[in-house]
Amino acid sequence: ELEESLILADLGVETAAKATAALRKTIRERHITKTEEARSALKEILTDMVSVGSAELDLSTTPSVVLVIGVNGVGKTTTIGKIAKQLCDEGKKVLLVAGDTFRAAAADQLEIWAERSGADIVRQHEGADPASVVYDGIQSAKTKGVDVIIIDTAGRLHNKTNLMNELNKISRIVERELPNASREVLLVLDGTTGQNGLIQAKQFKEIAGVTALAVTKLDGTAKGGIVIAVADTLGLPVKFIGVGEKAEDLMRFQAKDFVDALFE
Ligand code: GDP
Ligand code: MG
Repeated sequence: ELEESLILADLGVETAAKATAALRKTIRERHITKTEEARSALKEILTDMVSVGSAELDLSTTPSVVLVIGVNGVGKTTTIGKIAKQLCDEGKKVLLVAGDTFRAAAADQLEIWAERSGADIVRQHEGADPASVVYDGIQSAKTKGVDVIIIDTAGRLHNKTNLMNELNKISRIVERELPNASREVLLVLDGTTGQNGLIQAKQFKEIAGVTALAVTKLDGTAKGGIVIAVADTLGLPVKFIGVGEKAEDLMRFQAKDFVDALFE
């Protein structure tokens, strides 16, 4: 029954089975007989499963680079805006790079977030080569002494080869122009897409060297279990949780608080 409820909470079959097996073992080892003790043991197990790596982005160099990827509509641009707001509020100089050149509206949306957060923005015309926008962004960041460069991208996964080529090209420019910079590849997942999100995440992990995750839209109908499923299955750290459309609706991920909230 427990395994079933965990699956219903979006943990996925694999992670639910793993959690249940771990709980069975703990119950035996600690001679647990009370429901309340079993509940805390399960919380500990889930907290361990979701605690992968550091909960903070590595922004240790000036500049550092965060490349943000994910399928269309998951919340990349919004998450970038929210992260920019947090970093600017901490006194960091942030530059947003409009690497989604597929539609002019994408850069317009990023520009609104730049104004809202106090970040700078580098953009080009619709249809421009994203790698060339990234190149411009890096040059601008170097002259302005920017602390963090955040790169927005388009998320068209229908053609995996194209997307992979585009992301590789961007990565090569960053590598060449900023060889010593801290770099994160932040994959954004829509929490309401449940197990589909997990499949997307696996594909992106294969093609794009993902280093960190952000899970969005956990304010809506999403069941938080997906966060545990992705962290555990992919072995990637969750760094942010999106809980709304406004600038302040982004939480830095805290494993224990998150699991406690799941049980409420
Ligand atoms: P992108 O295509 O990946 O860049 O996605 P966008 O940033 O444009 O977001 C798509 C939609 O999801 C927009 O309407 C956002 O306001 C909305 N959105 C993004 N993050 C969240 C979130 O955490 N909660 C809610 N409720 N909506 C979100
Ligand atoms: Mg976007």
